[in-house]
Amino acid sequence: MLYKSADDLKDRYDIAVIGGGLGGLTVANVLAKKFGYNVLLLEHHFQLGGLAAWFKRKGHIFDVSLHGFPVGMIKTCRRYWSKEIADSIVQLHNIRFVNPQFNFSTTFDKNDFTEKMINVFKIDKETVDRFFDTLEKMNFVDDQSKTVRELFEEFFPGRNDVVRLLMEPISYANGSTLDEPAISYGIVFSNFMSKGVYTFQGGTDVLIKKMQDEMLKNGVDIGMKCLVEKINIKDKKVDGIVVNGREIKCSSVVSNGNILSTIEELVGKEHFEEEFIKEYKQVRINNSSCQVYMGIKEGETIEDIGDLIFTSEEPTFVAQKLRDYDTKSRTFSVYYPKTRPGLNRYSVVASTNANYEDWANLNDEEYAKAKEKLCLETLECLEKFLPGVREKIDYYEAATPKTFKRYTLHRGGSSFGTKFEGLKVSMELDKHIPGLFHTGSVGIIMSGWLGAANYGVITANKVDKFLFEEGEKEKENEV
Ligand SMILES: Cc1cc2nc3c(=O)[nH]c(=O)nc-3n(C[C@H](O)[C@H](O)[C@H](O)COP(=O)(O)OP(=O)(O)OC[C@H]3O[C@@H](n4cnc5c(N)ncnc54)[C@H](O)[C@@H]3O)c2cc1C
Repeated sequence: MLYKSADDLKDRYDIAVIGGGLGGLTVANVLAKKFGYNVLLLEHHFQLGGLAAWFKRKGHIFDVSLHGFPVGMIKTCRRYWSKEIADSIVQLHNIRFVNPQFNFSTTFDKNDFTEKMINVFKIDKETVDRFFDTLEKMNFVDDQSKTVRELFEEFFPGRNDVVRLLMEPISYANGSTLDEPAISYGIVFSNFMSKGVYTFQGGTDVLIKKMQDEMLKNGVDIGMKCLVEKINIKDKKVDGIVVNGREIKCSSVVSNGNILSTIEELVGKEHFEEEFIKEYKQVRINNSSCQVYMGIKEGETIEDIGDLIFTSEEPTFVAQKLRDYDTKSRTFSVYYPKTRPGLNRYSVVASTNANYEDWANLNDEEYAKAKEKLCLETLECLEKFLPGVREKIDYYEAATPKTFKRYTLHRGGSSFGTKFEGLKVSMELDKHIPGLFHTGSVGIIMSGWLGAANYGVITANKVDKFLFEEGEKEKENEV
């Protein structure tokens, strides 16, 4: 059996990881493979991956969040997963912007952006170079008081078109706005600019299967359809978890679930001090998403219109408008046979940012109508790029913030964890309750495929340090 049910699990593990998103999977694999711990990974859904999700309908395979990530994912996968996984990561060469302010294709890297900013936007080379230099020097521990708005105003005053070029893809990629700390923008944008946008050839299903095989090889026990209901605390330390009603002992727990649900529902805020409660209450959940998945009939083809298209009918760029219920801005990810070599199929996934509240309060009838409206408007927009495509589409379906909440349990169906302040709260959990750790999308920088996987590595190292020190203390006590 690949997966275990709650009844098949051992009574005790070194570490229990709650959630099989990219952060949870990475932390589990590193702790088992590099450090040799006895690791249990628990996922409430019937599929691993969290938001790195896929689903099959009528012969189509749709990817939920495989739209693009920075080149750094190759190094992370090679070091902490396998060479085979890293070798399947390939570049997307044709990224398009289509909006009333500009319309072109780009490789989405520093060289091409420099060329576009000079030749299309008529910015002088010195300013462009200074802008990129400033971003590259930004550091995690830098001053966080400067906002993205102030950064852009400093380099490109009054240039909403340039701001759209630089910001719109990042707003899609992690929900950030111009009021976010400039550093969070700078780090994510620079990651993309270093070498462009990458994808996993083979699809999300193949990636997660390879990750699952790697974890099993490294001895991780994987519990599926296993909802963790409680993290047990004894003598102010982690003592274990309750999963599907069964208690399992462990001296450390890594939650890959939503940070606020982890504190309030899994641990219980009665275990935290007043100061920390005040701090975590300030953490804002990031926005959610809507998507429309469209499958092209078997045997039909569509022309190459680009891999990723940032399209908008808004005359100017306003970050908050990207998530409006009636937004006129969406991205199309176009999957050609090259995405899943051997499977000669095409599909298109349209994504928009969205507010949970706009969808959560609709009754069943309103909800069904709203989803159909979203699908029809999206099909109409796609027709502008691929005239006649509706005749070729034999399946379409929409996901909303409610869908994302149902499958991942994230508050507000959050697609990208929390705003920046969530990172500190996430990183300091173990200072308040020894043995309690968090990993996964928080604070913009740690979200997305690369951010979540990298945060998994950081957390694995912290857990190892904790368990090593606990072991040393036990040895001293024995002497
Ligand atoms: C529509 C959309 C498009 C995106 N596009 C991109 C993209 O193109 N590029 C990119 O880099 N990123 C993208 N992202 C973001 C990226 O997918 C996420 O940031 C990343 O996958 C999150 O990983 P994570 O480790 O935070 O865990 P998550 O994926 O959030 O997974 C958490 C897991 O924990 C499980 N869980 C929670 N609570 C419990 C519990 N109590 N018991 C058991 N299990 C539990 C959940 O079921 C889930 O599997 C996109 C996201 C969305 C929604």
